[in-house]
This record gives sequence, structure tokens and C-alpha cells, in this order.
Amino acid sequence: MGRGHTTVDGRYSLKEKCGVLAAYSLSGYDVAPMLVRGLEALQHRGQESWGIRVRGHKTFRRMGLAVEGLSGRVLDWKGQSGIGHVRYSTKGRTILENAHPIDIGEDFSLAQNGTIANHENLFARMKGEFSLNHSVTDTKLLGLRLQQSLRGGDDWFTAMEKVSHELTGAYSLVFITNEGDIYAARDPQGFRPLSLGYHIPTSTYLVASESCAFASVDAKLIRDIRPGEIVKVNKEGLLSRLFAKRVQKAHCSFEYTYFAHPSSIIEGISVYEARKRVGRLLAQRVPLKGDVVIPVPDSARPAALGYSEESGIPMEEGLMKDRYRKRGTMRSFIEPSQGSRAEIVKQMIPITSTVVGKDVILVDDSVVRGTSSKIVVRVLRNAGAKSVKIVVTFPPVRHPCYMGIDFPTRQELVARGPIRGDKDLTEISKTVASRIDADQVVYNDSSNLSKGIGLPLTDLCHSCTTGNYSCLGTPTLNFKTRTQMKS
Ligand code: SF4
Repeated sequence: MGRGHTTVDGRYSLKEKCGVLAAYSLSGYDVAPMLVRGLEALQHRGQESWGIRVRGHKTFRRMGLAVEGLSGRVLDWKGQSGIGHVRYSTKGRTILENAHPIDIGEDFSLAQNGTIANHENLFARMKGEFSLNHSVTDTKLLGLRLQQSLRGGDDWFTAMEKVSHELTGAYSLVFITNEGDIYAARDPQGFRPLSLGYHIPTSTYLVASESCAFASVDAKLIRDIRPGEIVKVNKEGLLSRLFAKRVQKAHCSFEYTYFAHPSSIIEGISVYEARKRVGRLLAQRVPLKGDVVIPVPDSARPAALGYSEESGIPMEEGLMKDRYRKRGTMRSFIEPSQGSRAEIVKQMIPITSTVVGKDVILVDDSVVRGTSSKIVVRVLRNAGAKSVKIVVTFPPVRHPCYMGIDFPTRQELVARGPIRGDKDLTEISKTVASRIDADQVVYNDSSNLSKGIGLPLTDLCHSCTTGNYSCLGTPTLNFKTRTQMKS
């Protein structure tokens, strides 16, 4: 089995961090092809399984990348509304049964991006009323709770409001009812992104994890779904309501440095520009000596460009993903096992002429386990690099994420473990450099990162770097009893 994850109350949960999509055409246009194209554009958020549900059709789910296993019929499906999902899970059993959308009886289907951190509390409360076993996912629990409220006579807005009081964690959700109405909701802190778009030629409202999905179908971004907002789209148009009181926002800062697509706009900020600014600011804060700036492909490329422009050190491509091998183009971080992650990183090809005899400044978006970084350093040294210094755009990851990103157990984090001067960034950097065999490691810090992103520090989540989980309403998690564990 692969990696598990404990909830804030210390029990095992199934983690699901993914891309979601919904479409409703007011003109009666059939949305299935639009959903499939949009999911392809969200592929970077999940590459293990995918699925769609279109009004009038059974839920369709397949393992692998979107379009893999696609039967021609699906694209011909009639139906003016639907939802879709690409899945990045980290429970070892990457099985079809856990793919989304998830059907909640005959009433509705839903898809989620995020993690309900207090999943076990919810489970304990509900297990007496439903026939549940421990493998039930947080998404299913949430769906059953909503169903209970709706069957009790609540409308969707009230049901979401009631259920939100029981939830802690990150959830960007899309729903389709049996009648074909679409709902979408985002947690009150806005951990994961969720955007609203519109396709003018077919009068289609879209909701997607990221705006890059809109661009892929020639739709326009209207705005972000607000934290704590639920929207409904049906033949009468769009209706919006806040289901939760305004609380301190906690947008995931890792979305901006790694997870999101560079072409996306989140909270009004271009991810590409944010990454480039972060690189520029790092060059100002830590001006390193070197001959060439090289990005770790692909997400660090804009930051490397920013670093190069600010420092005046030329940027070159020194590492290429082998796009002709089956897995060469995939993202290593979101792979479910260490073996598959290493396999992807090993398929990185050095461009010897740009690194031989050079002092290389390697720009990376994060160093989490350190295994991939170690391989990359070795690849560059074997190609003849004189020295390899690494500039990391995300601060040291030293604590688990309970809000939808799969960071490994604390023991596996390269910036944890016995470090002299444990809280000192310089000491952490020195230790990590020796652990990954780099000549030097330079980490970003939270305030520089927030400046680069362009959002106030207080509107961003940094829990995985600080260990402060006040954004979850539980600032003092007892890690002695609540550490992550292997499943
Ligand atoms: S803990 Fe880290 S990865 Fe998780 S939501 Fe917060 S910033 Fe993002």
C-alpha cells in the first residue's frame, strides 16, 4: 500500500486533491466534449483517474489521463449540463472505485478538490446512521450529510450552510442533481482555487478549479468563486449565496509556486507573473554567483526567468523532460509512489553543452522529500557541472498539509529531522544541501513569497512551513499523537 494521511484528530483519511469542472449551457448545447477538453487542461492537477457525469447519463469513470479509456460515445452524449474531475490521490490503492464523480444515491453526484481534515469526526458522528466502513472517503461522507439535510427539506443553500459547520479543511466542490442543476461551493478560507467562467457562443456557465480550463474551450474567466460561496446554475441562470461567515482567507501559497497551471489566474493574479516575481525577489534577496540559471522543468521555469532577468545571469535549458517516453512528460510530485516519482525524474535529460564546466544556479519550486532534487543534482554533476546551487521558491516544507496537498510524513520531509539550529533558515538550508548533495541551497521565506505572489501574508496559508494551523481553527495540533502514518 502507499501513503496514508492522518486527519487533525489523528486518524487515517483518504486524501483527494484534484481538478473539478462543471458546465451548464443555457442554450441547450451538449456539454460533454467541453467537459472532456476542460479536464485535459486540468490534467496537471491529477493524472491517476478521471470521470464525468452528464445529465441523463450514468457516471463515467476511468483510470489514467483524461481521454484515456474514452469511448467515442461519451463525446456524443446529449445533455446541457455536467460535471467532471481529474484525480490526484495519494492512498496507495489508486482504484477506479475511488475516482470521482461520486454518486450519492439517485439524488446527485459530486466531485471534490481538497481534504476534509476532520473526516474522522464526521465519520464517528455518521456511522450510526449510515452503514459505513472506514474506507469511506471524505467526499462521500460530505455528500451523504448533504443528502440527509436535503431530504430533511432544506434547500441546497441551507444544507451547505448546515454541513459547513461540521467541516474543517479544504473543499472546492461541484455537484449535478438528477434534474441537471449545477452547484459549486468553496470552503470559507478559500484554500483551493475555484473559478467561474462563461462560454459566450453557447451561453454556457463553467466552474473550474483553474481558469486554464476556460481558455481550453474558448470561454472567459468571470471571477473567482468567493470563499464560503455556493452558486447554482439552472435554466433560470446563475444564483449565488454565501453559506459561511467571512473568516480569514488562507489561499494555498503552494498553488502559486507549483500546483496551478502558469496560464491560470487565481484571485486576480496571474500564476505565471507571480512565479516570475518570486524569482526576481529571490535574486534581490540572495544574489548568488554563477554562470548559468537553469530551471527544473516545468513549473520552476518562470521563476528561473525572473531570477535570470534580475541577476543578469543568463538562463538556459539544462534539463529536458523526455517527451517521447510514456511517463516522461508527467509531473513527478503528484505520483502516488516513490518509485513512480523517481522513474519520472530519472527521465530528465541534461543538455551537456549548457552545464559542462559551469557553476549552475538551479531554480526549483520546492524541495519536499529531497529524493528528486538529489537525482537532478547528480544528473547535472554527471553532465559536467562544476557546482550546483539550488534556489527554492517555496520555503522549507516541515509539517504536513491537511488541506489537500500530499506532503509526506514528517519523517520523510528533507527539511525535518535532526537539524542544528532547527528554526534557523540558514541552518536548515545547510543541512538540506548536504542531504541532497548540492553545493548550496537557498530557500525563500514566507514574507518574500507573499510579496512575490502579490497577496497579503495574512491571506495565504503557510501551515506546512510554520506548523501553525490556526487557519483550520486548531492552532495547536498535538503532533505527538497526530503525526502522519503509512497506510
Ligand atoms: S499547508 Fe501548505 S500545501 Fe497545504 S494548503 Fe497550506 S500552504 Fe498549501
